[in-house]
Amino acid sequence: MFTSFDYYEQAEKLVPPLKNPSLFEREQNIIKNFAESAHTVEDWNTGCPFCKEKEYKLFFTKWKVPYYKCPNCFSIYAGIDGEELKRYKKNEALAALRLDWEYQSDTSNRRTILWNDLLDWYRFRCFRYLGKNQNLKILDFGTRYRELIRLIKNSGLVHSYELRNSILSINADEKTESADVVLCMDYIQMEFVPLQFLKEVHKSLKDNGLLFFSIRMGSGIDVLALKENNKSIFPYEFNLLPTPKGLRILLEQAGFEVLELTTPGTMDVSYLHEQVNSLENENAFLYYFLKTAGAAELAEFQRFLQKSGLSSYAQLVARKEK
Ligand SMILES: [Zn+2]
Repeated sequence: MFTSFDYYEQAEKLVPPLKNPSLFEREQNIIKNFAESAHTVEDWNTGCPFCKEKEYKLFFTKWKVPYYKCPNCFSIYAGIDGEELKRYKKNEALAALRLDWEYQSDTSNRRTILWNDLLDWYRFRCFRYLGKNQNLKILDFGTRYRELIRLIKNSGLVHSYELRNSILSINADEKTESADVVLCMDYIQMEFVPLQFLKEVHKSLKDNGLLFFSIRMGSGIDVLALKENNKSIFPYEFNLLPTPKGLRILLEQAGFEVLELTTPGTMDVSYLHEQVNSLENENAFLYYFLKTAGAAELAEFQRFLQKSGLSSYAQLVARKEK
């Protein structure tokens, strides 16, 4: 399996911050209000969502939601209630904000370069593992940006395209079966029972079809070091934070072979840097390093995290086994 990664560095001048601060704050307020009033699960008896281990420890609490850590696969998961998650997915204020023209156009201005890189990643991997990267039946879970959907549809990859489980989904009369490719970018982390979801994905794919997904990892340095102070991790959007071991166990249970698991993240050190003061008492080494390192050392550190599979952003390609 391919796990290492050739270092990937964004040309900084081309990339504005990924999030618009004022829109992000509005989004966070809606989610925080929901989380703080929702029912949580203090006694988790269903086992680790990845490896089924029954033991767990409280790792941190954010917005009144406990995050548990598995002592077997080291994955982290939020103690949320499945019914509350269903209610969250129907939150009208959040959907209205995300469907708004300002939110959609601002996000596409910030992310078009990344999305084009993503399309190249699909093209290359489809060709490598399917032997073709055109005329593919594509089933997409969760994409919520109109511009990204337009780019996928115009990419030359697509024979047919169906979008499910998105605020932009239109209920299709015919459900895609025997898909060549399932896309699941930044989506699985929200699920409550990931094995059940992956079994649904498995059913929709043809034999040897490919599953592409991205997810934030519980083995990532900013997740482990910043805990509840991490501004980019919060309940109801980031409920599952696996490790490579946890992900492999989960995917094998669902009938997938993991072909690639890489961590091409570029943001870990920036996230640590933004929140450095919360590290002062918790992690003296990281605090010292981040306070004194120059740009070259910081870039070298991010490079090390990427290459070693320790960034908190992972991309994965898996193949449906017969
Ligand atoms: Zn586990």
